Amino acid sequence: MSKVHTVALALTAGLLGASPACSQGSFEQQRAAMVEAIEANVGATRAYTGRERLADAVMEAMARVPRHEFVPDAVLPYAYENRPLPIGEGQTISQPYIVALMTDLAEVGPESAVLEIGTGSGYQAAVLAEVAGSVHTIEIVEPLGRRAAATLERLGYDNVTVRVGDGYAGWPEFAPFDAILVTAAPERIPQPLIDQLAVGGRLVAPVGAQNRAQSLQVLEKTDDGSVRVTDVLPVVFVPFTRAN
Ligand code: SAH
Repeated sequence: MSKVHTVALALTAGLLGASPACSQGSFEQQRAAMVEAIEANVGATRAYTGRERLADAVMEAMARVPRHEFVPDAVLPYAYENRPLPIGEGQTISQPYIVALMTDLAEVGPESAVLEIGTGSGYQAAVLAEVAGSVHTIEIVEPLGRRAAATLERLGYDNVTVRVGDGYAGWPEFAPFDAILVTAAPERIPQPLIDQLAVGGRLVAPVGAQNRAQSLQVLEKTDDGSVRVTDVLPVVFVPFTRAN
């Protein structure tokens, strides 16, 4: 299996012109169908992930978060399709299955402090906010960060804090974090993020060169402070960029 997370989208005019949202049922019905599609992906990839199913809390969050609030109007009819969508500035909102899997791999609970690098639309942050205690998230593209912050505030996610900046250095003021999610692909996991991970914490990141198959990795910081890295799944993410 390659390209489970396909960022390159063939959004042809024909496709965009077809099937308006109203013919696909309410957003709630579409969201329920999305959850079923995620469950099917989970089953199909269990040999990679070692997971038969994702945590109930994660699937409940996927069933609750209004993904249509996080996508631009132009792709609203596709808000609940199980694939990434363009969100402007050359960036994408991740595939729902990947959002669910990364949230599950982070193994967070109601007390967890989470750091996300790559706020994008704010959707992954909202899903994390449903299952964790607090979420700090950093976006390098200012218009995206501003829009995500406004969306999250409008929807009442008061346990999420958005910052615009280069996430390479993490957010030391709020470290350590019980979990760190990186939603853009660096060639190597930035050392500051490993440093800001709590003992027993889990960092989930797509790692690999741009335009190559990347590997979704889980890095665990063990009690003696050493790290253990596990490759979970081949994926394709937008590149992790650096401030100039
Ligand atoms: N989690 C997002 C997915 C966004 S795609 C969502 O749910 O919509 C990845 C995002 O990472 C992009 O918006 C990109 O601008 C951002 N990004 C890339 N490099 C970054 C960096 N060094 N620091 C912070 N954000 C970065």
